[in-house]
Amino acid sequence: MSELRLNPATGEWVIIAADRGGRPHDFAHPGRSRRKLPPLVEGCPFCPGNEGMTPNALLELPSESSGRWQVRAFPNKYPALGPGSASGATSEGPLFAAVTGEGAHEVLVETPLHNRFPADRDDGEMALLVQAYQQRYLALQSHRSTKYVLIFKNHGEGAGTSIEHPHSQIIAAPVVPEKEQRRCQIACEHYDRTGRCLYCDIVNEELRLASRVVYHDNQFVVFHPFAAGRPAETWIVPRDHAPSFGHVDEQGLRAFASVLLQTLRQLRTAFGDPDFNYAIHTAPKDEEDRPYYHWHLQLIPRMTKAAGLELGSGMYVNVAAPEDTAEAMRQARP
Ligand SMILES: [Zn+2]
Ligand SMILES: [Zn+2]
Repeated sequence: MSELRLNPATGEWVIIAADRGGRPHDFAHPGRSRRKLPPLVEGCPFCPGNEGMTPNALLELPSESSGRWQVRAFPNKYPALGPGSASGATSEGPLFAAVTGEGAHEVLVETPLHNRFPADRDDGEMALLVQAYQQRYLALQSHRSTKYVLIFKNHGEGAGTSIEHPHSQIIAAPVVPEKEQRRCQIACEHYDRTGRCLYCDIVNEELRLASRVVYHDNQFVVFHPFAAGRPAETWIVPRDHAPSFGHVDEQGLRAFASVLLQTLRQLRTAFGDPDFNYAIHTAPKDEEDRPYYHWHLQLIPRMTKAAGLELGSGMYVNVAAPEDTAEAMRQARP
């Protein structure tokens, strides 16, 4: 029997149709070919020695052991948004709104090794990556035209990546994307109504009910949300209320890196290295100092494909109950 669940953070309905997919492991992809890749690939623009194939670095964080770059950020050669000479409205008539595509689109190479995927790394490597995320986030946030910064990662072809060398991306947009605006608005309404943060409330409820919690300690809670849109959708939420990822201190970043690493390892063990996307949701620039938003990471494994129902209605069909996938991830804890 399927169930319609309302996502309290987005206002979207999701159909949980667990009997369509069978058990959580039935849609896993064991033994991916990326396990057999070499550490260095001659023509790869992200491998060391090929830095000339990419624009100049905006940030290089060195590895403690080798002294060479461990994480490297530079402008995307094929940006979705790029620097423009002028920013402003270019609307056509009263109905068709547009602004110039001013903004930034950066690539963050996560490791010099072509085949060192996130779940293979150690805490130190992950901490450096998360530190780089925040440094580029703050740099882009300071641009005058920036309204919203999104840090995200596409892992694997099924998640939309075109270069296999592990990398993340950061976009600075001159507008707040509709979905993010909606999240903020819902959080704001909850705050006005109750005087409390929606995300703090969600976390407390998930901890109380426990069935969808994958892991928790005194700094982070990892869980599969009540209205997860896809199998094993995972949220990593800090327990301390903080609207912006830009304000997390050094110790908080290290703890975040370690819980992210652990979660990605659990995902790989439980579901056989699926492709995935993750994104860090954080308050838009103009709302960073308001009390109602609460930054978090949303991880979406790509084990099933969206079809007509999703595209037409915006309503996701999730063939695995989050209670079951959370249990599979808990069991995969080293
Ligand atoms: Zn490479
Ligand atoms: Zn909160």
